[in-house]
Amino acid sequence: MLIELSADQQAWVTLARDLATEVLAPRAAEVDKTTQYPRESMDALAAAGFYGLRALKKHGGAEADLLTTVLVVEELAKKCPSTAMCFKMHIEAAEMVCRIANPDQVERFVKPITEGKALFTVAGGETSGQTGKDWQPSGAFTAIKADAQGYQLDHIRKSYVTSAAEASHFFFMCKVGEDAPRGATTAMIIERDKIEWQADGEWNGLGMRGNGSTPVQFTGHVPNANRLGDEHEGGKNMGLIMMPVVALTYAAAYLGIGAGAYEIACEEATRQYPSGARRIDNPINKRRMAELGARLEAARSLLHLAAKAGDAGQVTKPIPYIQAKVMASEAAVAVTTELMTMFGGTAFAGRLPFERFFRDARAGMVMGLANDEAYPMLAGMQFPKPR
Ligand SMILES: Cc1cc2nc3c(=O)[nH]c(=O)nc-3n(C[C@H](O)[C@H](O)[C@H](O)COP(=O)(O)OP(=O)(O)OC[C@H]3O[C@@H](n4cnc5c(N)ncnc54)[C@H](O)[C@@H]3O)c2cc1C
Repeated sequence: MLIELSADQQAWVTLARDLATEVLAPRAAEVDKTTQYPRESMDALAAAGFYGLRALKKHGGAEADLLTTVLVVEELAKKCPSTAMCFKMHIEAAEMVCRIANPDQVERFVKPITEGKALFTVAGGETSGQTGKDWQPSGAFTAIKADAQGYQLDHIRKSYVTSAAEASHFFFMCKVGEDAPRGATTAMIIERDKIEWQADGEWNGLGMRGNGSTPVQFTGHVPNANRLGDEHEGGKNMGLIMMPVVALTYAAAYLGIGAGAYEIACEEATRQYPSGARRIDNPINKRRMAELGARLEAARSLLHLAAKAGDAGQVTKPIPYIQAKVMASEAAVAVTTELMTMFGGTAFAGRLPFERFFRDARAGMVMGLANDEAYPMLAGMQFPKPR
């Protein structure tokens, strides 16, 4: 790491690293194998005050800046990507309410977050059906009906909801009324114990196997008091308020996957076997490890720079945030793919954990802002159409 940290930033990083080493790491392989939700790891994060990392100090939170936030997520992802993803989705889902809550919402939502009692997640996309027999583009939502008291949800099905069966609160994105144009979304918080919800099937994904990302179907009434910001303004608020933390924590999670695998590779590559041989003595591996190290450091530097610039209020368009996301996710895929080759049959047979990191890294290509969506978005900002 090339940047200097403040005492406060260093303290959070150290706390995250220790907790990741002591609590997350010993459970990571089992979480992956059994697809069990990393409850103990998440509970440890809640108990140590991480749930309120981004909440304002006046509401009892740590009010951590973007740089601290990404450093924390990277440390967690190095040891257990599934836990890091559940935590990242909590931070992302809680971001808007932590920033724009009214006094009632501070009491009902933000304070429970800071007390480690509320676990948030995002119920956003409605892209695909459970069987893969249905599909619609991301950003397309089923219209819900408004009444004087709030919003009526009738079997609204979200395709992938991290921590689906565990979260206490869902950051819910929807379209209100059939006539709402695409992009005019509304954001609200759904309280799990105040609505009918049903997780649909079990998560058995290629990677991130502990993140419990099943489809969830919601039916019931959500009061106006749970809406975040104005009706139809959710998408705009997301862009303004949530984008930095959404993109940068994705970047941090993927960077952590690449870095976690790389750290293990450094140890294994320099290990002297009884034959006297070391993998690093092979010139191809020497070059490979140097190149992968440089690639990770490039992604990390961009991530830190983007976070610092965001903290300093210097970012006017989210270009550096999205660039950091695509670079980190591609670095993670490149690093873990190369390590699968370098460690040969040992890696392929799962005797070293590279294949787990390799599978987890693949999420970076498709999740959230898929890279195939991110690049056109970047191009649109870099090369706007002439007026
Ligand atoms: C592990 C995991 C956890 C998740 N957790 C959550 C969660 O907590 N909450 C939540 O709301 N969602 C979550 N998601 C969903 C995620 O954010 C994406 O919506 C989802 O992965 C997209 O999958 P899809 O098959 O519907 O992709 P599709 O939208 O069908 O995209 C498939 C591919 O098509 C291409 N593509 C799609 N749209 C475009 C475009 N506009 N421009 C160019 N190319 C495009 C891309 O190559 C993309 O990879 C999660 C997904 C995963 C894998």
